[in-house]
Amino acid sequence: MNTFAFLEKSARHRPDQAALVQGSETVTYRQFHERALAIGGNLLAQGCEPGDRVAFCLANSPRIMELIFGCFAAGLIVVPVNARLHAREMAYIVGNSGAKVLVHGGEYQAGIAANADLFAGVSRYCTEPADGAKPFAELLESANALSRAVDAAPDDLCWLFYTSGTTGKPKGAMWNHRMVKCVIMNYLADLHNIQPGETVLHCAPMSHGSGIIALPAVARGATNAMTETSSFEIDSLLATVARLQVSHIAFMAPTQIVKLLEDYEPGKHDISSLTAITYGGAPIYVDQLRQAIDTFGPIFVQLYGQGESPITITGMGAGLHAELVTAGDPRIGSAGQVRTDVEAHCVDENDNPLPPGMAGEVVARGDVVMPGYWNNPEATAEALRGGWLHTGDIGYFDDQGYLFLLDRAKDMVISGGNNIYPREVEEVLIQHPKIAMCVVFGIPDDYWGEAVHAVVVTKPGENMTAREVIDFCGEHLAGYKKPKAVDFVDELPVSGYGKILRREVRDSYWQGHSGRIGGGSAAKVSTT
Ligand code: AMP
Repeated sequence: MNTFAFLEKSARHRPDQAALVQGSETVTYRQFHERALAIGGNLLAQGCEPGDRVAFCLANSPRIMELIFGCFAAGLIVVPVNARLHAREMAYIVGNSGAKVLVHGGEYQAGIAANADLFAGVSRYCTEPADGAKPFAELLESANALSRAVDAAPDDLCWLFYTSGTTGKPKGAMWNHRMVKCVIMNYLADLHNIQPGETVLHCAPMSHGSGIIALPAVARGATNAMTETSSFEIDSLLATVARLQVSHIAFMAPTQIVKLLEDYEPGKHDISSLTAITYGGAPIYVDQLRQAIDTFGPIFVQLYGQGESPITITGMGAGLHAELVTAGDPRIGSAGQVRTDVEAHCVDENDNPLPPGMAGEVVARGDVVMPGYWNNPEATAEALRGGWLHTGDIGYFDDQGYLFLLDRAKDMVISGGNNIYPREVEEVLIQHPKIAMCVVFGIPDDYWGEAVHAVVVTKPGENMTAREVIDFCGEHLAGYKKPKAVDFVDELPVSGYGKILRREVRDSYWQGHSGRIGGGSAAKVSTT
């Protein structure tokens, strides 16, 4: 089944319902369907053939959804590019995917022009007038519109999802129609059962998790609304929730939930329509999650996945959050349980399955797992060895199948022969009333091999000493896990997708040392 069929049905069932909304613009399901068929037809007419790649680099807008479904309609493979990337990074993804077409916003024109040689041979469409690019409106002309979507087999590729590249050049995780269908059904079954006519709001980049969650919303005939600004502003976000009676905020990174808590003014906007906020992509600290539930009620839904198994390894629905928080159950700090149509467990360094309570690499298998990386058989063989996706995440399952994520394998600190998971230390630090944000990692140390190091941002108006930070850790953690030193900074770097860039901070401490820059060799663990 071509994933386009989901749009086809919603357009038939609810043609006049708002499908895509942003500011004063509303695209109905009838229009969305027509536009996608026109885009698919025009891409084929201008020389693309099924299986060709079409990249886009666009700030959130209805154009993204039209283009994604336009590619589905024509059997093309869509390649979303994070709109916050530099033109040269964008060029890498366009080149690596072999995209024939790039659709971009006017804001990227200068960067593309300055790196024109990197985009040579790529046919460009721009949402604003731009030299060397055709107007996006040409893709909407009806003369070449398809009358219906092309057929697609379950194994046909439809999406290349480029990893964020924190451990080297980004790799294109290949998604086929079977996977995307499973992601859609799995979201509705396990995480949040979006209903026809509901409004789902996107405030995170739709080239990433939010764009994926837009798919089950299309399948259900719900409205996908997008905030207007690319910056994340709580006041305008909540004003939009009130104005559009939003029931579901599709995706927030934990850093965005922290901002929500900081900037929320109770009573200013009527947000009573809100029944679900999905979060994930990085660990949320338990204290912050409890505070969020206290403030907004049990409306939080957690997902754990990665581009190689999008959205879908484990999850925790809103009901389970409520249950665990009410019971004071520490499992609220977990990433939930394995999703209905996925298998997952932890393995040791020889890929042997581990019993509950033992930490190792999380592996997963099922129709939601990618068939491999684009043009990268070595990385595919490594990631999918033995038929299981090796996530690179270290964690353990408890006896009831709750997954506790400890860290990325490559972020683990080995100090004096002990394995230390930075997240565990950060989880303690964030509980300190004076600490707003923090990041922990290992730095080179002649005696310890690596020493635990913390970089801390204090709350406005607060001052702390390194001693206070270290002693606070000592009250909660084994001595060997305490930071040996602490630095204070005004802010920490955050990725375009809201993740604190631990490796970027850490790498500045590894300059001139061999071996561990950019993640270094993977550290294997076998026990907690
Ligand atoms: P990406 O492929 O960019 O979505 O990044 C996926 C990675 O983000 C995973 O391998 C995890 O390391 C991390 N991640 C995703 N979801 C969660 C979660 N719920 N809790 C902790 N880390 C997460």
